[in-house]
Amino acid sequence: MLTIALIYPELLGTYGDGGNAMVLAERARRRGFESEIVDVGIADEVPDAAIYLLGGGEDGPQRLGADLLRASSFAARVRDGIFVFAVCAGLQLLGTSFCVEGDDEYEGLGLVDATTARGETRSVGELVVRVDGRALAGFENHGGRTTLGGDVEALGVVEVGRGNNGVVDGFRTPAIWATYAHGPVLAMNPWFADKVLGRALGRELEPLVTVADQLYEERVAALAR
Ligand code: GLN
Repeated sequence: MLTIALIYPELLGTYGDGGNAMVLAERARRRGFESEIVDVGIADEVPDAAIYLLGGGEDGPQRLGADLLRASSFAARVRDGIFVFAVCAGLQLLGTSFCVEGDDEYEGLGLVDATTARGETRSVGELVVRVDGRALAGFENHGGRTTLGGDVEALGVVEVGRGNNGVVDGFRTPAIWATYAHGPVLAMNPWFADKVLGRALGRELEPLVTVADQLYEERVAALAR
């Protein structure tokens, strides 16, 4: 059973990133793997799972989410090997610190050597990132400027939009992959959904052709124009 734990959807659900859980569950089901989505609410214990999903959210809920996760077993479980895929606010709170409105600095979970400062302007619009030679397309809406520690690999190189800093987007450590891209990004990028799913299942996956592939190709072609 592939357990997909969606962390605090009531705090980190503003941008529809819960759809990433549905995409993983459906792509697993179509390949014959049983899966379940567990919504982890703010009053719940963080459960055992194959993958934790963190989504985007506004500054206040993001701070609360960080505080609640710090008081939970989340970080210990991630260090024990549970894989994490995080988007935007989720990305920011996994780092060592992040700034929200008013430039107040908050402690992150410190699972990744990354700090997020507040930019002068918000980054709002299309985001396209080159990841392993392919385009990852989504949209961004955030005020962060994220700096990675020297040992931390970015997820990819920005082609359109800002991501972390206008140059690279997200990060990828053995345990945690993160991006600024909403969409939901796994719905918009089926090839990348399968990378995340393969990592969560711990195996290479056979290709799965769906209408999402055609929509992806059309979107990438339109963005390249
Ligand atoms: N609150 C964060 C910011 O504005 C994250 C926003 C988001 O998740 N889209 O930077």
